[in-house]
Amino acid sequence: MVTKIFVTRKIPDAGIEMLKAPGYEVKVSDKDGVLTKDELIAELKTGEYNAVLCLLTDKIDTEVLDAAGPKCKIFANYAVGYDNIDVEEARKRDIFVSNTPGVLTETVAEYTISLMLSLVRRIPEADKFVRAGEYHGWAPMLLMGSGLAGKTLGVVGLGRIGARVAHHAVRGFDMKVIYYDVNRNADFEKEYNAGYRADVDHVLTDADFVSIHVPLLDSTKHLINDARLQLMKNSAYLINTSRGPVVEEAALGRALKAGTIRGAAIDVFEFEPKIDSLLTELDNIVLTPHIASATEETRGKMSELAAQNILEALSGNIPPNVIQAQG
Ligand code: NAD
Repeated sequence: MVTKIFVTRKIPDAGIEMLKAPGYEVKVSDKDGVLTKDELIAELKTGEYNAVLCLLTDKIDTEVLDAAGPKCKIFANYAVGYDNIDVEEARKRDIFVSNTPGVLTETVAEYTISLMLSLVRRIPEADKFVRAGEYHGWAPMLLMGSGLAGKTLGVVGLGRIGARVAHHAVRGFDMKVIYYDVNRNADFEKEYNAGYRADVDHVLTDADFVSIHVPLLDSTKHLINDARLQLMKNSAYLINTSRGPVVEEAALGRALKAGTIRGAAIDVFEFEPKIDSLLTELDNIVLTPHIASATEETRGKMSELAAQNILEALSGNIPPNVIQAQG
């Protein structure tokens, strides 16, 4: 019997080649875009696949898992976040779910810092200004921003990415770091002279920059809402490279418009790819299309890691990045 693997969208070749190497039949969706749920279900039902490599834009729920059927051993997500997959339902069906942790940590951390700099130094605004032909010579008050050195970065979610952002902020930019995480990290505090706050609220009140790095869970949905934005300093900035629904988008729009906070930079949106029109009308926000991990190097490594998880599952082993249900 031939072993069949379905990849829901074109990804870098490295992982696809790994999947083909043992002689497995690999089908990559040729649709130029995300498969609709009906398309995905139809493909899984007819294809009778042994493994699926899926993306964060694929919602893997009970109907999709049922369509995959008993032959399917694994859904390997091409992302570190896995909020798009009903992990508990997969577990009930003895289907592994895996993700791609670690290989994108540095890339997302670098990107988060670049968003902070773009925001405070107003780089997107400056670029628009020059292209619009408005630059008529150096001027002492032109497009003034503010700096990072000496400011306090508040990290919400001090996991792999949050800790790496903090590292760059302290070592690279002489910032101070405070953080909140459900797990306290004494070694990190010692190494970076970082301050722990016992709840999110105290990070928000004390930080000049707040950077969000929690996974999307029931407990983190709308973690940043109207009330929490009110706690932040008027001079503070919010950066979100985690998942859109962690920040209540309409509340962020209101806070930026009212001057409750000074600015924001976000790579992820609550209802992506839709974006609240209030956000696109404002100048004090930098908006990017969910590209924090988008480097050639990292996307290649993500495809290899997703493939490795599939190969292990198909060999009867527990995949190295198997994830457990949590809420
Ligand atoms: P991680 O699991 O290493 O870190 C997450 C941290 O959040 C952990 O330390 C955990 O204890 C903490 N946490 C969980 N619930 C919390 C809560 N309620 N309050 C405070 N802390 C809480 O994950 P990671 O590799 O650092 O990735 C973090 C997230 O970044 C991913 O889940 C993903 O959604 C997002 N991400 C986005 C992009 C992008 O393209 N924008 C790329 C990669 C990752």
